[in-house]
Amino acid sequence: MPKPSWLAQPEKLWSPWKLQGEELIDGKQDALRLSLHEQERAGIDIVSDGEQTRQHFVTTFIEHLEGVDFEKRETVRIRDRYDASVPTVVGAVSRQKPVFVEDAKFLRQQTQKPIKWALPGPMTMIDTLYDRHYKSREKLAWEFAKILNQEARELEAAGVDIIQLDEPAFNVFFDEVNDWGVAALERAIEGLKCETAVHICYGYGIKANTDWKETLGSEWRQYEESFPKLQKSSVDIISLECHNSRVPIDLIELIRGKKVMVGAIDVATDIIETPEDVANTLRKALRFVDADKLYPSTNCGMAPLSRRVARGKLSALSAGAEIIRRELSA
Ligand SMILES: [Zn+2]
Repeated sequence: MPKPSWLAQPEKLWSPWKLQGEELIDGKQDALRLSLHEQERAGIDIVSDGEQTRQHFVTTFIEHLEGVDFEKRETVRIRDRYDASVPTVVGAVSRQKPVFVEDAKFLRQQTQKPIKWALPGPMTMIDTLYDRHYKSREKLAWEFAKILNQEARELEAAGVDIIQLDEPAFNVFFDEVNDWGVAALERAIEGLKCETAVHICYGYGIKANTDWKETLGSEWRQYEESFPKLQKSSVDIISLECHNSRVPIDLIELIRGKKVMVGAIDVATDIIETPEDVANTLRKALRFVDADKLYPSTNCGMAPLSRRVARGKLSALSAGAEIIRRELSA
């Protein structure tokens, strides 16, 4: 969900915090309360912090780790798509203290509903760094997987019901996904008793991503590369982009047996879906996933949208799911 303008400038990725110190801690908690209220008001069943506690889905986690120098920057190509100035891995990476555990405890205190917490996936993490220490993408990803597992275990102990790893890089580096990407993902969730999810999308609705999508042709078959391996993996839920995308819906058949988060809201447009639009996407998905395993969701995060649009889309998601619930129980 987008942040309120007093916390960070909305409709912008990597938007800097407007507060500092104690005020920032209070501000993030206030924004989390607001976001939670909006989710509950919209009728969302599984709620989150609305990403009010992080500046960016990858960088905020990495900022809390040792071994990465944010002052030493190099320009690299992110997901083979756009150049960005990124921090450098200068030594062994480690987590000296929890990153989001206090935030998760706070969220847990605020609601009785099941809560989900998102962390970046190991492959997506290494893709936003310049590595001068390990000089091996696989080795660095493995180290991050171990760190993520430490964090995930503490999030679980804090009462998180679903831990999600965001791996948009799975739609780009197919050989690596098969060689070690899924293994690193499983290392990150090893030993967890709560549910686990992997979110594989085509990115936020920013220009670099929408331009890239234009080059992908009439059918987006990227999921075909990762789904067979994920179907056999230990991850419980797979989150994918559907509505307004060119992903052939029958690819969901490749993960038969898994729970599926079906993206029924397009995050790359300000046009708010109608409940019937959402229901249509869910009906198509139901041909390939059993109803009790279907989790209607957005295609990706709505952080870069306006608050009004994001609220409207959240309500549409909930109302569309309700249409399907009524049809199924009739
Ligand atoms: Zn996403």
